[in-house]
Order: sequence, then C-alpha cells, then structure tokens
Amino acid sequence: MSTEIYLDGNATTAVLPAAIDAALHAMGADFGNPSSSHGAGLKAKVLLDGARACARRLLGVGEGRLIFNSGATEGIQTAVLSALCAIRERRAAGQRVGSLLVYGATEHKAVPEALAHWNRLLGLDLLLYALPVDAGGRHDLDALRALAPEAALVCTMAANNETGVISDLDGIGAALAHSNTLWMVDCVQGLGKLALNLQATRIDYAPFSGHKLFAPKGIGMLYVRAGAPFTPLIMGGGQETGLRSGTENMAGIAALGAVLQALEEGNTFRSHAELEGFRARLAASLRRALPGIVFNAAFEHTLPTTLNFSVPGLASRELLDVFDAAAVRVSSGSACSAAKAAPSYVLQAMGLPDWRSSSAIRMSFGATIDSATIDDACARIERCGAALRSAGLLPDAKVPPAADGVVQLSDAGRHSWLVLDAASRAAAVIDAQPALQARIDALLHSGGYTLRASLRTDAADTIAPVRLGARLLLPCRVADATIYLLGRADAAQTTLAPAAVRHAFTGQAALAPLADLLGADSLICPASETQSAFCTSLRAEARAGQTAADDVNLDAAGLAAFLQSNPNVLLVDVREAYEHAASAGGPGGRAALNIPLSRLAQQIEAWQQSPSQPLVFFCRSGNRSAKAVHCLRRLGHSQCWHLVGGMALTSAAPILALAA
Ligand code: PLP
Repeated sequence: MSTEIYLDGNATTAVLPAAIDAALHAMGADFGNPSSSHGAGLKAKVLLDGARACARRLLGVGEGRLIFNSGATEGIQTAVLSALCAIRERRAAGQRVGSLLVYGATEHKAVPEALAHWNRLLGLDLLLYALPVDAGGRHDLDALRALAPEAALVCTMAANNETGVISDLDGIGAALAHSNTLWMVDCVQGLGKLALNLQATRIDYAPFSGHKLFAPKGIGMLYVRAGAPFTPLIMGGGQETGLRSGTENMAGIAALGAVLQALEEGNTFRSHAELEGFRARLAASLRRALPGIVFNAAFEHTLPTTLNFSVPGLASRELLDVFDAAAVRVSSGSACSAAKAAPSYVLQAMGLPDWRSSSAIRMSFGATIDSATIDDACARIERCGAALRSAGLLPDAKVPPAADGVVQLSDAGRHSWLVLDAASRAAAVIDAQPALQARIDALLHSGGYTLRASLRTDAADTIAPVRLGARLLLPCRVADATIYLLGRADAAQTTLAPAAVRHAFTGQAALAPLADLLGADSLICPASETQSAFCTSLRAEARAGQTAADDVNLDAAGLAAFLQSNPNVLLVDVREAYEHAASAGGPGGRAALNIPLSRLAQQIEAWQQSPSQPLVFFCRSGNRSAKAVHCLRRLGHSQCWHLVGGMALTSAAPILALAA
C-alpha cells in the first residue's frame, strides 16, 4: 500500500511534532487558566506571554497590538467590524469618509462576505468594489490609485491561497499613501513564507491563522496597528486586555508558540531557495507527465510552495481522481462538486480562459517537506501521467484497447449510453448530452470507432434498426417514447425475441408496457438516476420491496476479516481505468479486477452467470462502489458487498515529512 503524500498545504497542514508536544503540555502538566492568580495560572500566563512575545518579534509588531483568537475568519470579522464602526463614527461626526469598501478580486471569500455582512448589519450602505487584478494575479495599482480617495476601507491579501501569487504590498501601500482609508491585509498564506515587518507598513489590520503553518485548527492572531480603531467582536471576561474575551485556547497558543519559535530559530523549515528547487522538480515532472500543461501563475511572483495548473482536455475531477489514486493529495483550484468544477473566481479574475479556470489543480506543500518526499511525489506524478496516457486521455496517448459493449456516461444524474462493437468498430450513442459530448468524442476517437447513429429516446419519428457488427439496435415505439433494444442477431435478422434482448435503453419510459418486449433479465438502462440507480430488469422490479435490504457494507476492518474467511473473493475496482492504473492495487495492496462503473452494465451479464462468486466493490470514497453493489443486489446477485468510505479510509498514515 502506498503512503499518502500530502500536497495540499494551502488548505491546512499537519501539526508540527514540537507543537503537538507543546499543546499536550498545555493540556496536561500546565493546564492552568492564565487569568488565575495562583501558581498554575501564573505558569499558563508565562506560556501565553512567551508565545505572544515571539509572535511580536517575528511579525515586527512594534507598538501595535497582537491578539490571539480562533483563526483568520474571526480576525477578518474583527478587523472589518473595527474599521466599519470607525467609519460610521467618523461619518456621524461629519468627517469625510469614502463611499467604497474595496477588496481584491481574488480575496478569500471570508473578506467580501464579512464586508457585505457588517456593512448591512451596521446600516452603512457603502458600496463593495472588487479591485481588479492583472493577468498575473497582482492588484491593478492604477485602479487602486484612482479609487483611493473614495475608499473607506481597502482589503488585500499578502499571498493568494489558490495561486500563491504574492501581492505587491509596498506598491499597494504607496497607492494608499495619500488616502485616509483603513487597510486590512489578510496575511494567512504569508505567515512563515514572507518576511513581514508590520510596523514599517501602513497596514492597519493583519489576520493570521495557525493551521496554515503547522499549528492546530482553531488558533489565530490579529495584528492591529498602534492607533488603528478597534471594536471587540466578543465581549465577556476581559481576556486579551478586553480586546477578545473568552478563556484563551492555551493548547492552540502553546502549539502556535512552538511553531513560531521554530520559525525564529530557523532550523525546522526549508529555505526559500530549497523550496524553489523542490517546486522546480515538481514542475519538471508535471511537464513530463502531462503534455500541454499550463501553469496559471508565473513562478517569479508566487510562493515557492504553490503550483496551480491546468491540462488541456482534462477536467479537474479527472486529475484529482488520478492523483488521489496514487495517494497524492492535491485540491482543485476551484470549488468542486462531485461531478463538476465551478470555475475558480480567482483565475477568472485573472482573465484566464474558462477551460483553465474550471479545470485547475492546486498543488501546495509545507516548508517542512524533504527531498525524498519530493522524489516520491515526482515518481507518482509520472505514474499518473502514464495512467492517463494508457487510458487514452492525453494527446500523445497510446491507443488503449478498444472497449466493447455498453458504456454508461453520466452528468448530474442523467445518463448517456454508448454501444460499441469492437469487431466492426461501429458505435451508436443513445441520449447524448451536450455536457458529455467531449468525453463521448474522445472515447470513440481513442478506440477508432465510427459513429453509426446518435439516437434519442424522446425522438418522435420512426428510426430504422441500426446494425453494429453482430449486434442489432432495434427502435420500438412504446406509448409516446422510443426505446432501443440491443441484442446479438445475424445479418438477416430484423427483430429480437424478448429473451434475446440483453440491454434496453428506455429513456424516461414507464416499465410496465415493456413486458412484451423484454426478457425478465434483460438489463433496463434508463436515462436518469431517478428512474433506477444504475440499471434494472423486469424481474428485479417485480421483486423490489419484497425482501429486506441486506447489509452490503464492509468497513476496512470488516473487509480484512471477510477476506480471510472468503479467500476466493473477487475484489472489483469500479474506479476509472486511469485511477486503477495509477493506484498501487486495491485495499491492503491486493490485486483487483478493474471494471469502471461506466462498464458495469456490460459486465453484469457475466456475473449473473456465476451467482455464487463473492464480489467486493471498492472505489475512492465509497460512492461508486455503493451504486455497483446496490445495482447487483437488486438484480439478484446475493454475494456482493462494498467497501464503505472507499480507499480513502484504508490509506496508510500520510508522509508528513516533519522535523522531529
Ligand atoms: N484567508 C485565506 C487567504 C485563507 O487561505 C484562509 C483559509 O482557507 C482564510 C482566510 C480563513 O482562515 P481560517 O481557516 O483560519 O478561518
């Protein structure tokens, strides 16, 4: 089984061992409340003061305030609330305040959401204005200079979480030099990665987050410039000199303190030059593995720990899945739902074409990573490239062996079906959806197929039978719909007896009127998931609800025991071929048969003929394998199970590459 390589450091990081020790100490031996005046409290107070002093030195806080809180989202709220309360007071006192709340177009959502929320709540009615960025992701300083006289508050970030683009804070500061606007800089992705000397800047507020730099989640800091307006977000017992009440998160503060101390001592984290070297190695492997790759932000202006890229012809879902199969954890550079990626607003703001902003991948690593892990990651990236190539998904792909039979492609719960006849290289598609057209074309092209017919189950006109080698696709009108029956037939045959129908593509048609046309076990392939989770049969539908639902779930521990007592089990990987090829086998590294879910309808017939063969399906997260097992059970195969939670829950501990 391959060990996980975590390359998603901009999302969160593992906690540094020294930070874990410090947190355990603060929860165990030195658990006191820093507000208590007895010995236990005093010890906690020393710890609290030590962590703050270290942070103050590192960030160059000068006379400013540094408040511990729960993280950057809280820090952003506090900064925005403070600024807006001050703006409201100034306006009420008749002072001139600008009318704009300006924020960088690529800010983390916490910023515009907080601005909109507090602007509404405080009844300020200021205008939110997204400051454009250039093609390199950097703020448009000419636009900012023009806006500065009207800006009441400006929010920018030190470095972008998706692209790693580093902002020109000196340039922004200069653009704001003659404006009396307040200025917040979200420093989350800059902590430990960029040299900060806050007192030398005109930044008023700077939120930080512990979990992006090897401290636990739930601890953060807010810098407030000396003299900058402040309004507490949380009132109560007066902790943090009344600026942020609530008993301090001492475990978090101790851990963050340990990280900051390590940063100050300089022995734990790789130098900028080393990190640049690591990024160059990853980029070289990516270029070799994924022809046509484009990096979405130039390396000279980005954090050396972040790479953001897109690959022509590959969706982010496909790239995420193949990396995940190789146990390389990366994220899509955009909000990604199960099937589709919403385009990244960050990349859109940079003016990148749609295909790049909706298919981007972010690879980001922590500054504790070592050279051996980078080597391992490079090897796996190249394995992913080879897997995609062997599945015909890259432009220089080897031609994969032509698939034969029925293939299901799905988009948002709606199915398109392909019938492929490998011997004659003839194909037909039923209910092709526009969203799936590119995949359909690629599949036909890579297998050298000629499309004989593109059929629709909602077609009103009569269509002639379609011959695909030894297969016959027979249209039939049923009520207002057209369904297509598929079976083997010799050249002279123009009809199919019910028992000879292997598959029936039924669109939205009701099943009852089909009884005269289909055999009891002909596989009914519908047009959407709402009609049947995958495919069904008349016999399965007649039986539905008559038997109690069996327990088909195996967890990782249950699977190990199951495999021991059933040595003839067939493990079936229902992930795509490229995911299977990129992975190091099935659960526990065991060999597995690869039947992608899209090919299940073709394989079912063979499994129905060996009903006593135990089958265990697995996939990445357990979703696809659940569909497979429920489909087979419904069709009457009683000897099948699936791995709940998928491979994700069976992986070994990640390579953290942390200094001990
Ligand atoms: N700002 C940026 C740039 C971030 O990357 C994040 C985290 O994703 C946040 C703010 C929010 O930080 P937290 O998780 O500490 O609330």
